[in-house]
Amino acid sequence: MKHLVFFTGAGISAESGLRTFRDSDGLWEEYRIEDVATPEAWARDPALVLDFYNQRRSQTIAALPNAAHLAIAELEQHFEVDVVTQNIDDLHERAGSTSVLHLHGEIRKARSTKDPLLVTPINGRTLHIGDRCALGSQLRPHIVWFGEDVPMLGEAARIVARADVLVVVGSSLQVYPAAGLLQYAPPFCPIHVIDPNAVDVRSSRVIQWAEKASNGVPALAEQLKKENA
Ligand code: NAD
Repeated sequence: MKHLVFFTGAGISAESGLRTFRDSDGLWEEYRIEDVATPEAWARDPALVLDFYNQRRSQTIAALPNAAHLAIAELEQHFEVDVVTQNIDDLHERAGSTSVLHLHGEIRKARSTKDPLLVTPINGRTLHIGDRCALGSQLRPHIVWFGEDVPMLGEAARIVARADVLVVVGSSLQVYPAAGLLQYAPPFCPIHVIDPNAVDVRSSRVIQWAEKASNGVPALAEQLKKENA
């Protein structure tokens, strides 16, 4: 069975109403990364950091998967499909994808500040100062902040290295080390890039689809199914 790997970014969830990162109306126009998404921000003002992620969690819970998430999930009927996502939302899972690796964490989970392996689901929308893990330490959002290691990177590279087809959806490929994953694609693996804006990928095997995810992903899914029939 052919192995498809989808590498997704904030753009795939834009049409579900979740704002991207770097577009002109993106989140970072309103917030400074260093105030809400770094270990230093957490040390300085944990209440502000919790509030920022509480808002993201509320918006995620209210959002629904769109046609792109659904098309990727449906492809599991025809192919082996892995999703490697930079997104912290759970829209791939709610669309039905069964193999989703989150490189940058998950908004609906918290983790201990004492033991990073102690991860728990957040019941409800908010995490507060005083919410503690089983070891008694403050819970923090289960998010990989800027300046922190990306523990799932090795596993993601192994997945990409086994791809027959790699599809990048809605990522500006500006955030490293995640964006560097493309270099692990095998030499003859085609790389499709679906994004309404030009993405700077210098490789002759990149096929650019200048489309929004909700059009481009279902169209590519139909093409892949026809080629595979
Ligand atoms: P980015 O904001 O840097 O890039 C988003 C890309 O999506 C851009 O290239 C833009 O042209 C494209 N895009 C916009 N609308 C689109 C659409 N309808 N269809 C397809 N593409 C569209 O995002 P990134 O590369 O994922 O940046 C990485 C960081 O953003 C990650 O660390 C991630 O954790 C964080 N993030 C996640 C979410 C989420 O979980 N939904 C939201 C915002 C930011």
